[in-house]
Amino acid sequence: MNPSARHVVVIGNGMTGSRLADEVARRDPGGERVRLTVIGDENGPAYNRVLLPGVLAGIYTPEDIRLPFPDGPAVTLRTGTAATALDTARRRVTLDDGTALDYDECVLATGARAAFPPVDGVAAADGTPEPGVTALRDLADCRRVMALARPGAPVVVLGGGVLGLEAARALTARGVRVSLVESSPWIMRRQIDRPAADILADRYTALGVAVHSWRVASRWISGTGLELDDGRVLAGDALVVTAGVRGATDLARAAGLPVEHGVLVDDTLTTGDPRVHAIGDCAQHRGGGAGLVQPGWEQAAVLAGLLTGTAPEARYTGARPVTRLKAEGIDLTSLGDTEADDTAETVTIADPYGGRYAKLSVRDGRVAGAVLLGFPESASTIAQLYDGGDPVPADRLALLLGRAAPGAHTPDTGGDPVVCRCNAVPRSAIEAAWLDGARTRVDVAAATRATTGCGGCVRDVDTLLTGWSGTTPAPVG
Ligand SMILES: Cc1cc2nc3c(=O)[nH]c(=O)nc-3n(C[C@H](O)[C@H](O)[C@H](O)COP(=O)(O)OP(=O)(O)OC[C@H]3O[C@@H](n4cnc5c(N)ncnc54)[C@H](O)[C@@H]3O)c2cc1C
Repeated sequence: MNPSARHVVVIGNGMTGSRLADEVARRDPGGERVRLTVIGDENGPAYNRVLLPGVLAGIYTPEDIRLPFPDGPAVTLRTGTAATALDTARRRVTLDDGTALDYDECVLATGARAAFPPVDGVAAADGTPEPGVTALRDLADCRRVMALARPGAPVVVLGGGVLGLEAARALTARGVRVSLVESSPWIMRRQIDRPAADILADRYTALGVAVHSWRVASRWISGTGLELDDGRVLAGDALVVTAGVRGATDLARAAGLPVEHGVLVDDTLTTGDPRVHAIGDCAQHRGGGAGLVQPGWEQAAVLAGLLTGTAPEARYTGARPVTRLKAEGIDLTSLGDTEADDTAETVTIADPYGGRYAKLSVRDGRVAGAVLLGFPESASTIAQLYDGGDPVPADRLALLLGRAAPGAHTPDTGGDPVVCRCNAVPRSAIEAAWLDGARTRVDVAAATRATTGCGGCVRDVDTLLTGWSGTTPAPVG
């Protein structure tokens, strides 16, 4: 390790803070350029927050979802410790254990916190949840929900967005009787259109979830349940609040950095202070990305290139968000503009009886937006077309049905589509890993990181491995 390497302090050991440490260590394994200290206020190692609904459903244990963290002479991790102040003039971070760290560069990776709506009985004035109420943001919340949600017991989920629907599905897997309340006219209002939401709500109803859309909660009565604005009371031993998040920006705000709903950053992920950077859910970039892991991991890679000087030209230019619902037995992908107006041509398939729905909007021959419920194969192809900005085959219906003419459905990405979006892993990297001896999904994950994000590409990787088993893939060009 180089004793005069620059000291970078990262505040937050979540999905992007730990990824930044990993990216820096890959570029500078001996600590010749950068000495890193990561501060995390959660106890224990970083974990894949995206997979918490899977822990709740019993699919994973907390150990299964651990994230890698580099060990090496130049990386120090301090967990169970919170940063309490940032002094940009003295370049110093104060910690809650009474110590302080001086930095050459500081990175805010403080993520977001669950927002509790102003409903009587839900949270105290200081934001602490009342008895029986919990969010689902971290492992501690997850353990709390598991303790409260006993099989057969009634639980209310407040918030019918992606997280609320994932939580509701996971709770049904535990044998819990779930009611879900959403104040918008339909569930997943921000990602899907009404017809899709109606079919999705029917699928949830069939799973035993009572869906109450366009209903406002008026009071949480601990030990009884949730009272709605129409006077009904939904029985609940617990209330799981999934009603949105707020960027954790207090440190930045108190330090005088420009903050709107997140800490403002430019394409180099630099805040209003040239020595302070922000990534992940706490950052606000003009091209968006907060709230999803893929943009945060991309930001971590860009910043690692800049901080180590290994990629001084690296820039983050924005996100093309794709949302996948992680709910066992339900395949739902939404991307782009899902309420495209008549400047786009739109093809729709509605199959309420079969619980399926597909809508594809095309503008200037490119995917403008799509909602795909129960169409996993075309979802994968359409997401690749959207990612690459590639031309859509002339037969839109065949594309939706996964029956585009041979060759036509393969996105024109030089034959190398992205398979794992979270980690930006193209098919060629998986093929190269296979040629190097990676024969299982675990081997492929170790070599490429594919499947280690939201898990949405597991099926695609398995399909590739199955297709190659017993054969030799064409050498990667
Ligand atoms: C249940 C759930 C499911 C999700 N599913 C998906 C999904 O399917 N796809 C997707 O793309 N995204 C999903 N997300 C969102 C995704 O998890 C976030 O976008 C991602 O975690 C952001 O990473 P981050 O590092 O910015 O924040 P976080 O992972 O939240 O990490 C921030 C860390 O900083 C710590 N911290 C905060 N303040 C301080 C301080 N002052 N001092 C020290 N430490 C501090 C926090 O405790 C936390 O550990 C999901 C989120 C949740 C909660």
